[in-house]
Amino acid sequence: MLTITHLKKEYAIEKKTFCALNDLNLNFPKVQFAAVLGPSGCGKTTLLNCIGGLDSFTSGDIQIDGKSLLTMSEEEHNSYRNNYIGFVFQNYYLIPQLTVLENIKVALAVRDYSQKEIDRLCKEALKRVGLEDIANKKPNQISGGQAQRVAIARCLVTNPSIILADEPTGALDSENSLLVMNLLKELSKKCLVIVVTHNEELAHDYADRIIRLKDGSLISDEELIHTENKESSKRELKRSHLSFSMTSKLARRNLLSRKGKTILTGIANSFGMIGIGFFLAINLGFSTYSQNLSKASASTLPVVVTAYNRVSQTDKFNDKNASEEYPDAKEIYPAVDLNTEYSYSHNYFSPKYLSYLDQLKEEKIVRDYTLNYGHNYSFNLTTEYPTSLDGEHEGGIGKVQTTITSYNSYAYQASLPYNIFHVLYGDLEQYDLLAGSMPTEKTDLVLVVDKYNAISFDILQALGFYNSYDQEVEVQDKTLKTKVKPIQFTDIINREYKIFSNDEYFIDYDTIDVADANGITRNIFRYQEASLTQEFYQQHGTSLKIKGIIRSKRSSPLSILSPALCYMPSLQEELMPENEQSKVAQNIYKNLVFAKPDDYSSGVVLNNFVAEIQAVIDEYKNSKTSVLPTSQFNEVFERYFRYYPYVAKNYFYIGFNTFLNDCKRIGANLIDEKLLGLNLAKGTILQETIDEIQELGINGEFDKAYQKMISLIAYANAYATITSLVIFPVDLQTRPLLLAKLDEYNKNENKDESLALNEKEQVNYVAQDESTLLVQIGELISLISLILILFAIVSLTVSSSMTALLTSNNVLERKKEIGLLRSLGSRKRDVIKLFEIEAVVVGVISGVIGSLITFGLSFPVNAFINYYFSRYHVGTICDFTFYHGLILVGIGMLVGFIAALLPAVKASKQNPVDSLRSE
Ligand code: ADP
Ligand code: MG
Repeated sequence: MLTITHLKKEYAIEKKTFCALNDLNLNFPKVQFAAVLGPSGCGKTTLLNCIGGLDSFTSGDIQIDGKSLLTMSEEEHNSYRNNYIGFVFQNYYLIPQLTVLENIKVALAVRDYSQKEIDRLCKEALKRVGLEDIANKKPNQISGGQAQRVAIARCLVTNPSIILADEPTGALDSENSLLVMNLLKELSKKCLVIVVTHNEELAHDYADRIIRLKDGSLISDEELIHTENKESSKRELKRSHLSFSMTSKLARRNLLSRKGKTILTGIANSFGMIGIGFFLAINLGFSTYSQNLSKASASTLPVVVTAYNRVSQTDKFNDKNASEEYPDAKEIYPAVDLNTEYSYSHNYFSPKYLSYLDQLKEEKIVRDYTLNYGHNYSFNLTTEYPTSLDGEHEGGIGKVQTTITSYNSYAYQASLPYNIFHVLYGDLEQYDLLAGSMPTEKTDLVLVVDKYNAISFDILQALGFYNSYDQEVEVQDKTLKTKVKPIQFTDIINREYKIFSNDEYFIDYDTIDVADANGITRNIFRYQEASLTQEFYQQHGTSLKIKGIIRSKRSSPLSILSPALCYMPSLQEELMPENEQSKVAQNIYKNLVFAKPDDYSSGVVLNNFVAEIQAVIDEYKNSKTSVLPTSQFNEVFERYFRYYPYVAKNYFYIGFNTFLNDCKRIGANLIDEKLLGLNLAKGTILQETIDEIQELGINGEFDKAYQKMISLIAYANAYATITSLVIFPVDLQTRPLLLAKLDEYNKNENKDESLALNEKEQVNYVAQDESTLLVQIGELISLISLILILFAIVSLTVSSSMTALLTSNNVLERKKEIGLLRSLGSRKRDVIKLFEIEAVVVGVISGVIGSLITFGLSFPVNAFINYYFSRYHVGTICDFTFYHGLILVGIGMLVGFIAALLPAVKASKQNPVDSLRSE
């Protein structure tokens, strides 16, 4: 069955060749117990290795069932070892991490048997060597004799044709030696057993044939008992590969046996993962943040220009109360005022500025702009006031003063009106609903609070939460953390207000006749405000209710509503035209009477008036300034007109300025439609209008001249009383260009010195610098990302070299295991797989540890960032999600795989003989 012809094996040692086997010719039958004897170093092991296909030979041939080993492919060699050969080594070579039974299973793991089958065969093999009761022991818990019998069981379980035993009794006492030899003898009845031994006695007692070697050559070959050379049935060379379950079992056992090392490597490798983890988490957090920001700026971050700018910005409430931001408590706090000094700058919205904006609109830099004249508009809003806090003053129904300077400290200092009852505008998605529901009907109101859940005491008082006799000091409570007595949400929701139209609210009182300076009698209308009895309150007006309380979201980078009571645009749409058409608004211009100034004793008054206005216009034209001389016009009007207030009071007539304010308050429109939209700044319109007025005077049409005059002055004043201007850029990208253009306006677009803007004409805007902020944060984030990437690269390099090192070390430590697996017929690929699985598992561990650490650290990192950059409302900037964890585990696996590839391939390429020889 086994034929060896002219077998020669040479080793090259330092350029010389050393002959380990020299021209051996041997023939073995199917069954025989052959002993190979000879001194140490004579080539016995070499011979067995050559027969077993573990080692190559220099020349000659070895044939098995007529098939030469020389013609076998690598795959066939593996199968040959597994199907034909069983090795028994002097040192047993049991894998220490596996139990006895598992060690036997390794031999069958390369075959396509079912788990059940393998179990049965292995138990049977153990029984045959008489060791079924130590099946679950580890190799270090059994004796040498038992170990060698296990090795024999491992060898016979594959049912080999040839058993190659290399000094199987070399390390055993005589009793165990006999046991082992008996077992081998038993096996030799069914197969060829070739035993290498030093022990002459044992050889003689057991062997059928004794082969003696010396210096690689055959000395004698004596047959003690003749064995017939029966024809053996050929074996099929089935493909063999180590099963996945055995590979993973080997990997798992090895990792577990080196738990400490495995976890330490996992932790060390996780540093790279943490770097990557933070990179991923911060990238996500920032992209969410910028999405929020661009959502918030759906109206693309308007530029706001107010009539006044507070130069020194400090947070009033924060200074005073040092309260908690975004509290959860279901209550609001009256904010009490600080007497901090502020400085202001004033803006004047000249027609020139507006035409500049129109020009920007044409250039597609400005999408649109809205003018706000609304601050002085006063609705007839009423509500029920409570009894004073000290109980001394009874409450009752009263009118809400919706525009009063003292509501707002800087409005007060700049003597500008501040409206606490205004239309709800902006993107409501930027607000949290703290209580109630979002308004839907035109009768719904919503209360806006600031981030401290606070509203100024003055505003709350005006809105009917306090009696008018209550003092700010009475709500202060220095012992409370909030320092004020809160108002519960439940006391706010559904609070009722009543709004009356002008016609409902202003009741005819009387008319008086006054002759004007031109001798025309004017019919003056006077009214009385309705007396707010319970009965009137119940039966008239439109009932409005506070439906919800809203507060700007913590994450909202831009919210434009300040604490106030807000109403629906639909209410304004209904009420404003109604009020404009009301009797009081329609007639108010009649209460202005043309008068003869004290210093004019004679002459036609209108001519004098026109002459004075003409003088102002001329001066304006010559000055080349673009600022309309509204105040000079007003000064002339002040002298020529007397205003009889529309509400009957004690005084008879007052100044012209009060007339203008009253008009705005009741929503009267004095401006001639023909003038609307015309740019007075060009001067020609002014000239034409004044010419018309003069002509009407000459023709005696005083009433028409009169109306034109009022229309002109109202229009001129409209420009002067714009309280704010909101400019929307076309999109976020053009916003910087818009800001640059607005700056350019201030710098002076005219190179001509005489046309230079004086300081007064400059318009200073307030542009929340969110877009530059976005860019800045973006840059900061990319810097952080870069650092994190560098950190990750460095740590990945370190961790992959560690994995490589660990694997190499692992390979070194387990040389024998590799040799054994190869001798059992495992492929090179199986060895690679084994080490790869281990490295990948370490990668998974490092990914998991890295994820946990990153997740854990993300909390303090977020807290830190939000603490130091609180005004940016960045929110969760380090957003580590489950998916990031999966990515990290994936990267860990990949790094482990790549790092282990080289040492694993190296291990697989090791000559199994060298692996087994290494002691
Ligand atoms: P035995 O098993 O009979 O003691 P071996 O077969 O192990 O002897 O070795 C035969 C001879 O070959 C010895 O002299 C040994 O030094 C030599 N030898 C074995 N392996 C190698 C090798 N890889 N390189 C060089 N010489 C070797
Ligand atoms: Mg030897």
